[in-house]
Amino acid sequence: MTQVTQGVYFIQGQDEMIPDSHVYVVGKPDSQDLSIIDAGLMGKGRYKIQSILNMGIELKAIARIIMTHTHLDHIGCLAEIREQIPWAELWVHDTEADPLEKGDERTVYGMEMFQNMCMMQYSLKPGAFTFYVDRRLQGGESLDIGGMTWEVLHIPGHSPGSIGLYNRMEKILIPGDVVYADYAIGRFDLHGANGLELKNSLLQLAKLEVNILLPGHNRIVKELPAGYIAETAKQWAPYLT
Ligand SMILES: [Zn+2]
Ligand SMILES: [Zn+2]
Repeated sequence: MTQVTQGVYFIQGQDEMIPDSHVYVVGKPDSQDLSIIDAGLMGKGRYKIQSILNMGIELKAIARIIMTHTHLDHIGCLAEIREQIPWAELWVHDTEADPLEKGDERTVYGMEMFQNMCMMQYSLKPGAFTFYVDRRLQGGESLDIGGMTWEVLHIPGHSPGSIGLYNRMEKILIPGDVVYADYAIGRFDLHGANGLELKNSLLQLAKLEVNILLPGHNRIVKELPAGYIAETAKQWAPYLT
């Protein structure tokens, strides 16, 4: 785990056959009100927790887990992490909270073929990803957590309840799988995905001033060129219909 800036820590995903999402820990260290953003792939819980401990962060300082969305590569080890911090609340966008509570795993797996393969490979039972959601995010909230302010942006398209977290003061964006470095964007062919919505979400993000881009996969960018997201949206627009 490395510190990106004060109050923002980065744990790199350990990809296997299936990618493992990055985890970010946000909040001022002495606030005792830290948030974990996303969990990762099955089997990666121990690695993520150990990375947090290695930074000298006490687990009792973690108050919640916020999911950018509930795809398998982000939620796979949520149960493992929660075993270590059972008091932590789970915050998810409203649209993906319902299926999560009902055990409807179509969004988690994205497509049936992938579901069958994963369930076999990881010995997963139906309903393995059923969770109670403590707080349903809508988008538009301003979260005062861990001594920082994070705006919640509902940015659907990659998944129906994708959110971004934006820190206006430090110009930091955590966009989940909506936009990555190197002009890449999240896939838009899975269950609940929608190309046109993804385009609108990219255009929404393009209005923000972003210096630090912290996506769910691949490299992070600390000095994002001005207009980067607008340019990405422009390049992809013909495909996002
Ligand atoms: Zn995803
Ligand atoms: Zn992902």
